[in-house]
Amino acid sequence: MNGKLNVQTENIFPVIKKFLYSDHEIFLRELVSNAIDATQKLKALSSRGEFSGEMGDVTVEVKVDKSKKTLTVSDRGVGMTADEIEKYINQIAFSGAEDFLEKYKDIQENLIGHFGLGFYSAFMVADKVEIITKSYKDAPAMHWTCDGSPDYDMKECDKKERGTDIVLHIAEDCTEFLEEYRVLELLRKYCRFMPVAIHCGEESVWEDSETECDKDGKPKRVEKKQPRIINNTEPAWKKTPSTLTDEDYKKFYHELYPMNFEDPLFQIHLNVDYPFNLTGILYFPKVRKTIDPNRNKIQLYCNQVFVTDSVEGVVPEYLMLLHGVLDSPDIPLNVSRSYLQSDSNVKKISSHISKKVADKLEEMYKNGREDFEKKWDDIKIFVEYGMLTDEKFCDRAMKFALFKNSEGKYFNIDDYKEKVNALQTDKDKNLCILYATDADEQHAYIAKARTKGYDVLVMDSPLTPHFVNLLERKIENCRFVRVDSDTVEKLIPHEDTIPSKLSKEEQDKLKPIIEAEVDKQKFTVVMDSMESDEEPMLITQNEFMRRYKEMSAMGGGMGFYGEMPESYNLVVNTNHPLIGQILNETDNEKQKQLIHQLTDLALLSNGLLKGEALTNFIKRSVEMI
Ligand code: ADP
Ligand code: MG
Repeated sequence: MNGKLNVQTENIFPVIKKFLYSDHEIFLRELVSNAIDATQKLKALSSRGEFSGEMGDVTVEVKVDKSKKTLTVSDRGVGMTADEIEKYINQIAFSGAEDFLEKYKDIQENLIGHFGLGFYSAFMVADKVEIITKSYKDAPAMHWTCDGSPDYDMKECDKKERGTDIVLHIAEDCTEFLEEYRVLELLRKYCRFMPVAIHCGEESVWEDSETECDKDGKPKRVEKKQPRIINNTEPAWKKTPSTLTDEDYKKFYHELYPMNFEDPLFQIHLNVDYPFNLTGILYFPKVRKTIDPNRNKIQLYCNQVFVTDSVEGVVPEYLMLLHGVLDSPDIPLNVSRSYLQSDSNVKKISSHISKKVADKLEEMYKNGREDFEKKWDDIKIFVEYGMLTDEKFCDRAMKFALFKNSEGKYFNIDDYKEKVNALQTDKDKNLCILYATDADEQHAYIAKARTKGYDVLVMDSPLTPHFVNLLERKIENCRFVRVDSDTVEKLIPHEDTIPSKLSKEEQDKLKPIIEAEVDKQKFTVVMDSMESDEEPMLITQNEFMRRYKEMSAMGGGMGFYGEMPESYNLVVNTNHPLIGQILNETDNEKQKQLIHQLTDLALLSNGLLKGEALTNFIKRSVEMI
């Protein structure tokens, strides 16, 4: 019997070849996972008593035959009857692909190749495909052949064993798939944790000979060939957490990353079945100063079938630094990445993971403070990154985030506030938290601060500038001051050393008048009583300037926060006669002019007055003379 495939195949085969070319290796994943599906179906039937025959050895086999130019995937699963081939292969196998290609006509370049063309992806690498199959049901074995045109051929054959062989006649331009090492590479990538044993080729093992001895009388070591099984059918993430020890987790980590010699710090075993299905293990690796640019370490699986290692969108950004596996049949794996990011299931998964991570950290903090402190230096970068990018996580982490001081002692945020409150509150009732970003380089400053009785934190993560900014928003009446940003007397101003000529009321009146004339985004107006012969106004760029600069310098490489606006303090000397003059000026225009003139002078002396502002300044100066 022969017939035409019931789809608009004429235009589809070239499309498959062309658009999936970069990712055509997924054909093997598709064929092997079909073989596994067929085997699992038979196991299910057997356990329900609907199949009573012998299961036998159900190992799936992948075999290349270079001389025949074929690659064959064989299973001992349910097989197919003629009717089933008609229904599942001839008629509907393509419907999904057709819809898909129709829907994504315009954005084909953006596609990632992970969509289930299923069986038909075989035609990406083969110009002829055969299916030789015998159903577990009492039905004749069938032989189906298709050469990539819409015509197929189907006849009975004499296959004796239950199961299916899919034979690919590899196309001229795809001969790489006739090389065993290449096939092994693909199997290890996509099929490494599939749930039924997969056999490909042979491997050598060395064992004691039973008959031969060496000259010391010990059994001779002899090489023996045995079938090579490429997968671990029971990966750790599929097991019940209570049955696994820390050692088991570590062992699995090294199985996942054979090139990573360091042990992970700890792990989180995910096991969710409602409202979505998700299993997996996330490992916290050791990360110190640098953030690993190669962040795609988490592998995504769908029922133990490898799908991708780019997990953007599926895990929150700060957790991209983690290692491990996620497995979910609910992640729509077969679509483009932009779709993945907007999918609501994926969003739920992402926030669930974030919550689990917070739970785990909080539990570690509560139940093993000492151990938590030991790990802190290695995990703080995750916590800080998470706090910066995930509001909910931040609120939870405020409870367990730790500060480490220059003596190497750890405090949680509340305890630390308590500790330094008495000595480190400034005259404006702000708590001043002193920190160093490099304990060695800033050693002299730390020592000086400590002689005053101050405590100094060591905050040496690359995220520190962003992080202290965040903390200033989160902790009321608190500012962070780097130990070297001023003389030790001025780090925490306790009282006005020079009395102000303007009263508190006068200052309060003046401040908004000045603020109204300057760009508030850029300038923070600060009243200060300096000597009357010092400048009337000046720009400082101490703590804040530096911090913002550091942050924007980092912006590019880190991919978050982006460009930070520049920010300055505009310090107003309340003892300067010109400042008194501003306050007393009754002519509104003249008052404005004076403010602009003084701020421009302050900017000028810092080299910050440029372009149009500079031109205006010169014009105004001439007019005033
Ligand atoms: P999917 O696997 O998503 O159903 P495929 O195109 O991969 O789509 O396969 C279509 C159908 O063909 C399968 O659902 C199954 O019924 C049948 N099939 C494919 N390969 C095999 C096989 N090795 N053994 C038995 N049935 C198979
Ligand atoms: Mg399939």
